[in-house]
Amino acid sequence: MNINMNFLINYFSDAPDWHRVVLLTVSIFLFWNIESFSGVTLNYRKWKHAFTNAFFTIPAIPVQLLLGYVLLKVIDFDTNNHFGLINWLPTMKPIYSFLLAFIVLDLCEYAYHVLMHHVKTLWKFHLVHHSDTVVDVSTTLREHPGETFIRLSFLVLWVLLSGVSFWALIFRQFIQIGSNVFAHANFRLPNKVDKVVGWIFITPNLHHVHHHYEVPYTDSNYGDVLSVWDRIFGTFMELDANHTIFGVDTHMAAEENANIKNLILMPMDEYRGGQKQAISSPPHQTQQITFPRLLQQNSFSRLKKERT
Ligand SMILES: [Zn+2]
Ligand SMILES: [Zn+2]
Repeated sequence: MNINMNFLINYFSDAPDWHRVVLLTVSIFLFWNIESFSGVTLNYRKWKHAFTNAFFTIPAIPVQLLLGYVLLKVIDFDTNNHFGLINWLPTMKPIYSFLLAFIVLDLCEYAYHVLMHHVKTLWKFHLVHHSDTVVDVSTTLREHPGETFIRLSFLVLWVLLSGVSFWALIFRQFIQIGSNVFAHANFRLPNKVDKVVGWIFITPNLHHVHHHYEVPYTDSNYGDVLSVWDRIFGTFMELDANHTIFGVDTHMAAEENANIKNLILMPMDEYRGGQKQAISSPPHQTQQITFPRLLQQNSFSRLKKERT
């Protein structure tokens, strides 16, 4: 284990930026091909859709370079001043400090995502990601540069407070890239597999619910890599693929949500009020299952019975 950890620490301590770009490209390519024969949304102009979403990688570059530099400075500050949660704890094996950093940062990402949905000004930026009426791997790239700036600024804060080391942050980012591309893939896991994987991780099935056009579904499954936060904080929801409609009910017109110029200007628009509450529960909607509720159950089988 030590040899492996040393290898990982060495690799992630100086993995060049282009390795992350390669990982992103390879994972998009992989899931893009799987989508082509088992997509939940078919009959759309996949290349045109991907082109619109891929555009957002261009304005993101200067923002990532700027805040990447700030991140490095913050990590140096933490190390030199022995600042941040992990630095205040007793020294632990690298594997444990990585797991702790991973879990803490994932909780921070959950909190960030909740804020993006509930603070009106922030929602107007995050809306660009949600306004996609087809969700596929290219939706991963659809982030307004303003949101990229906000997200990375929050990350600077999380890194400062957590005291995460550079290699652990980069290692987490590799996992995060694969997980985020997978979560946006235009296919669903078989229900039985999803039930198992979705206990811990955000799956396409769970993230698709988050992209449903009406609340309360849009305001559920905020998790980044782990789904456990949604279960703990009661924001976990499931919705059958047949009842999932992608987009945001306030922005369903194609001339708005598929036009690059309009998407860039979208955060400057007037706030259009809250989304409509889904009027009737779709027949296959399943109830929220949260950890506190689970603790009240005597057995897992009883819970299963209740859900069927
Ligand atoms: Zn969201
Ligand atoms: Zn998404």
